[in-house]
Amino acid sequence: MTAAFGYASQTAASPLAPFSFERRPPGPHDVQIDILYCGVCHSDLHQVRNEWHNTVYPCVPGHEIVGKVATVGDQIRKFKVGDTAAIGCLVDSCRECPSCREHLEQFCEKGPILTYNSPEKQTGGTTYGGYSNMIVADEDFVLHVPQNLNLAAVAPLLCAGITTYSPLRRWNVSKGQKVGIVGLGGLGHMAVKFANAFGANVVLFTTSPGKSKDAKRLGAHEVVVSRNEEEMQAHARSFDFIIDTVSAQHDLNAYLNLLKRDGTMVLVGVPEQPLPVASFSLIFQRRQLVGSLIGGLAETQEMLDFCGKHGITSDIEKINIRQINEAYDRLLKSDVKYRFVIDMASLQQAA
Ligand code: NAP
Ligand code: ZN
Ligand code: ZN
Repeated sequence: MTAAFGYASQTAASPLAPFSFERRPPGPHDVQIDILYCGVCHSDLHQVRNEWHNTVYPCVPGHEIVGKVATVGDQIRKFKVGDTAAIGCLVDSCRECPSCREHLEQFCEKGPILTYNSPEKQTGGTTYGGYSNMIVADEDFVLHVPQNLNLAAVAPLLCAGITTYSPLRRWNVSKGQKVGIVGLGGLGHMAVKFANAFGANVVLFTTSPGKSKDAKRLGAHEVVVSRNEEEMQAHARSFDFIIDTVSAQHDLNAYLNLLKRDGTMVLVGVPEQPLPVASFSLIFQRRQLVGSLIGGLAETQEMLDFCGKHGITSDIEKINIRQINEAYDRLLKSDVKYRFVIDMASLQQAA
């Protein structure tokens, strides 16, 4: 085993704090990556505070990982030492079930192995994520990073990027469609960028009027303050597609009623409590309410390549790992512009 160092929470109520642990030695198909940057996803916060009621402690979160390959197993074909590489939310799956065969590893029927808080086959332990100095993973779950992009700003693409790119692709969002994005946080700001890049007419719904100017700079054509009933009503029955990225309790029906006939709303946000849906919101215009979970490995690479081609990255606030608990407090106040990224060099100073 190899000594590793990171930040973990020990209970749902404790702040993240320095934590020493061990990683498996790289097997023949593994790469070991020295982590340079790790994005801070709201899922990290939900997980360390046990809001989804399944957290295994200690919990080292982090699934928006960019780094340099430090060691390669002897069967490795895709990477060499020194390459820039990335890891998102998945580090393994069964590879055999219908979903895995269709490159939808996130829906693996034996259970996808997530980058943190999943059982790790090789050690019998629990996976630990990217708030750490290094990570070991099978090369099939490691991604190539386009060389022209800022590495810190690439990190959030590994979750916020693919989670919004995938549903926009699956539901064929394209030129001329009217698309709503609910919430301008990590996922929301990437959804705005991608929907704009795909040619849609993009409307951003926010509870933070102060974000309007940024939303337009990021690619929204119009901004609606969702607490303003009149502004909402002006858009009734007009949307082809809406992505809801909100991390907390809110009224889904207010957005469903903005879909036109046969319109689709996709939920990607995962608030702690269930969200009530009124049948009337769906039946009258034959509307569809669907969900979407990150993306498979092939689509994640496609998304990274698309970002390389179009010069798309995340708008980030780089932080020292010692600021992580403060960053979580700010996430809860919707005060992030628009993704925190931990500069992992700061881990050495925290050691
Ligand atoms: P985030 O950066 O904190 O953004 C969430 C945004 O939601 C906030 O910036 C805010 O935008 C809005 N919001 C917050 N509280 C609200 C409230 N009470 N009512 C209305 N709007 C509110 O979070 P994130 O990292 O983008 O993650 C968003 C959600 O997606 C989380 O629940 C996360 O776990 C989930 N997630 C799901 C997947 C998946 O595969 N499905 C992947 C990653 C994350 P405004 O200030 O603009 O209103
Ligand atoms: Zn995430
Ligand atoms: Zn599978």
